[in-house]
Amino acid sequence: MKYEAKKDRRSSLLFKETRAKTDIYTVEARSLLNKATGFMAAYDFTLNPYRGCQYGCSYCYAAAFSPDSQKRQDWGNWVAIKTNAADLLDRELTKWQKKYDTPPRIYMSSVTDPYQPIEKQQELTKQLLKVMLIYQPILVIQTRSPMIVRDLDLLQQFEYLRINLSIPTGSEIVRKDFEPRSPSVKARLQTINKLRYSIASNHQNKIYFSVTITPLLPTLIADRDKFFSQLMGIDRIVLQDFHPTHKNSLIASTPHQAIALKQKYAWWYDDVAESYHDFKQNLENHLIAWSSPTEILEGKAGFAYD
Ligand code: SF4
Repeated sequence: MKYEAKKDRRSSLLFKETRAKTDIYTVEARSLLNKATGFMAAYDFTLNPYRGCQYGCSYCYAAAFSPDSQKRQDWGNWVAIKTNAADLLDRELTKWQKKYDTPPRIYMSSVTDPYQPIEKQQELTKQLLKVMLIYQPILVIQTRSPMIVRDLDLLQQFEYLRINLSIPTGSEIVRKDFEPRSPSVKARLQTINKLRYSIASNHQNKIYFSVTITPLLPTLIADRDKFFSQLMGIDRIVLQDFHPTHKNSLIASTPHQAIALKQKYAWWYDDVAESYHDFKQNLENHLIAWSSPTEILEGKAGFAYD
């Protein structure tokens, strides 16, 4: 493994290695628990084990938080490992515990995926789970990766946990267009069901499962009913529109591709408010027909633990 020293003042990224077209940096983080604000205000902290994200989804707002414009342009092709994350987290949670009687509310993660491919080798998220188990925070994990199943033994020891699986479309062809590097729709549906059936919520813990259809991407009519039927029984489905009034809403790090995608799916994006309404209405109808106890929440409310 060859490391290339690379000092970047603005980003504080220290070392760089290139592997499978991804630039991998290591960084000493100054803090790990970041005060949650705005959309995440229901939480005390957001927790991001990595900076950057190998999935590089075309619509990802997190690209805007890249350390510089070059990295924003290059979103998806770089990731920084916070090498001191577990120690920092331990110190920060000890500090919280000394100050407060109640557990902190933590959202992992807001600007990265904690189970992106590099986690397989790094096991950084796994280390953080082990630390958190000592303190038992109210934890929400947001991911689109089947790799989360690897940590089943840890996840089932949490007292307050919600796992959000991101599945923004029920159509594999759409997924390949919008997020070509991410796991298949099928793999994600299998993951949420494996988690649901493996981790039981009981009187000792409160563990819930959500599918976040956020942002809502087009789902082909031919795939819609099957997708809905695969969501039955999930505790919560979260819907969020694509900020239809914002003409740049699809533009993260890949403006040209994003505009092309909007044109390719004009049948959906020409009247995106109507597309959203129609999708939600059909989903509700399915839930009623299947007597599913699933709740549908929208936007910010859907991302809360409760
Ligand atoms: S997985 Fe999440 S953080 Fe990563 S690129 Fe996609 S939307 Fe952004």
